Amino acid sequence: MSKKFKTQIGLEIHVQLKTKAKMFCGCDNDAQGKEPNTVICPICIGMPGTLPVANKTAIEMTIKTGLALGSKIPKVSKFDRKHYFYPDLPKGYQISQYDMPFARGGELEVKSKNEKVKSVRLNRVHLEEDAGKLSHPQGSKYSIVDLNRAGTPLMEIVTEPDIKSPAEAREFLKELQIILRHIAVSDADMEKGHLRCDANISIKLKVKSEKLKEEMSEIVEIKNLNSFKFAEKALAYEEKRLTDEYSAWPEKKTKVTRGFDSKTNTTFIQREKEESKDYRYFPEPDIPPFIMSDQEIKNLKVGAPALPSQKKQELINSGISQSEADIIIKNNWMLKVIRLAENLETNAKIRLGKIIVHEKNAKKQEPEFLIDLAKKAESETLSSDKIRKILNSGSINLVLDEDAEPDKINLIVDTVLSENPTAVEKIKSGKVKVIGFLIGQVIEKSNGKIEPNIARDEITKRIEGKNGG
Ligand code: ZN
Ligand code: MN
Repeated sequence: MSKKFKTQIGLEIHVQLKTKAKMFCGCDNDAQGKEPNTVICPICIGMPGTLPVANKTAIEMTIKTGLALGSKIPKVSKFDRKHYFYPDLPKGYQISQYDMPFARGGELEVKSKNEKVKSVRLNRVHLEEDAGKLSHPQGSKYSIVDLNRAGTPLMEIVTEPDIKSPAEAREFLKELQIILRHIAVSDADMEKGHLRCDANISIKLKVKSEKLKEEMSEIVEIKNLNSFKFAEKALAYEEKRLTDEYSAWPEKKTKVTRGFDSKTNTTFIQREKEESKDYRYFPEPDIPPFIMSDQEIKNLKVGAPALPSQKKQELINSGISQSEADIIIKNNWMLKVIRLAENLETNAKIRLGKIIVHEKNAKKQEPEFLIDLAKKAESETLSSDKIRKILNSGSINLVLDEDAEPDKINLIVDTVLSENPTAVEKIKSGKVKVIGFLIGQVIEKSNGKIEPNIARDEITKRIEGKNGG
């Protein structure tokens, strides 16, 4: 009989917060494109005798994230020192949070395999500082260190092992990225290292009998997964490897750390995992604990922006379809266009949703243009073909004139002239200004489809033609 296995995955996600200054000093937090070791000071490079001062905005962003994820915000929190040696951490310890983080618990809903929505429980959201960056020049026997990144505010989000498959882990990361961008605490770009993921995976053997002890593989932690794709691939590789090696599962619960090689799509052993006691955590003596009042927590809640799920519901309520709303909330540009169209009347807003989601060339146009187009599309029941032409040309009126066929233009101008003989006579007798009235009539009769210039030309042609003839 074949054995049945179940997969358990937990994620630890590190998020660089986009504050102006670093976590414990005044250094610029944007090191993008700057020379190595130029955005540093004695505090962030860990010189003895310096004093850290916590960045208030970073703490608020962490609490905001906790609130967005449904976490509880404890009244008292503190920072701790986490000791380890690494060349990119000159202090010999990282200021992090151990037992009193800024946010506890919470959950994030993800779509699982069968499109069912499931909730992944969170353990905590805490705040710490990033380390520097090591690089290893090709062909050399040494490494070089850049401390520009040292001291960047780093938020860590830890899930419970509720994730059941590599695909679900990928979904989780995507959903989290949407929320982080939405509440504007991070650009959350995985390629740029704003969002970095460590994943824990273990396999359990499903046993029917209660008496049988549940068998479990080692717990493997895969470090530094820096794209959605790699996270899923590395987990899929480990899931298969652990299942295949069932006969070699250890008696005792063990933890190992593995790295992912994106060239071969395999993982390799790095080290036996540290236990928290190895870090010798103790409270950071230079930063007193934080005590928040109920009122402060309440204020942060009130100031928090609407969540993507709420925003999506709003869109659906305004008539936009479920599937279009799904696409819109994941796209910053689309969200911006829709936000600018807040006052648009219902049908036009629905049209706008369809245009930005389905029309390829919509992105080339300014939001105001698209909003005007949506209005026009509704009031004049434009076909999608016409909408496409307008998007291509970038001019609403231009294409409409092309569409107003010569026959129709002739008919309208002739009708207007025969209905207004007095005006025609006045023009003939030299009162040329009266032509403006006739132009207005033509435009009105064509529902705005005939441009003023064309109307003037056609009218003049006829009146002068009659004069001459
Ligand atoms: Zn600094
Ligand atoms: Mn961490």
